[in-house]
Amino acid sequence: MNGAAGEREVLIVTDPQRDFCPGGALAVPEGDEIMPRINRLARRFAHVILTQDWHPPGHTSFASSHPGRQPFESIEVAYGPQTLWPDHCVQGTEGAMFHPELDIPHVELIIRKGYCRTIDSYSAFRENDRKTPTGLAGYLKERGFERVTLCGLATDYCVFFSAIDAAAAGFATAVVLDASGAIDRDGSLAQALTAMRDVGITLLD
Ligand SMILES: [Zn+2]
Repeated sequence: MNGAAGEREVLIVTDPQRDFCPGGALAVPEGDEIMPRINRLARRFAHVILTQDWHPPGHTSFASSHPGRQPFESIEVAYGPQTLWPDHCVQGTEGAMFHPELDIPHVELIIRKGYCRTIDSYSAFRENDRKTPTGLAGYLKERGFERVTLCGLATDYCVFFSAIDAAAAGFATAVVLDASGAIDRDGSLAQALTAMRDVGITLLD
């Protein structure tokens, strides 16, 4: 992405946390390598928001909460299928902290998600029941933002669901792929990129 962003544009950096980087509980391959790119991108934006995955112990998305289940299996919960993950981003732990190389002093809001024990939340806008709002759409609208640019971890999960919901909420939406990293299991990255293009989300290098 080139040039400076306007006053009505906001950058949302999704889950740039230790647990999603090498050495963490749910590492995205080379997740740490995007931190300098995120820092550079953030300097072009007057307005930046971070999201922070923030689970209580025993969260329903943890395989360890379901006896006999393994990480990356899918189960049915009240709101439909839910992928099970290793315990990650537990509230107050080292793994839930932002990556130490992240350097964006002008962040205006940190929005936490996944704190409801019985619902996971990939999107920064709506939890995985696709009904419970986080309040972010209202915040952005009240502040007069019209364009949302996203980056971070992971391209095919939290960035993807946040981008889809940003577009659905009426924001002109873009994703900066160069400042994002994917988990990419079973073709999930290709599916996410296609689904984003299909709803008019701009994909930038
Ligand atoms: Zn999570």
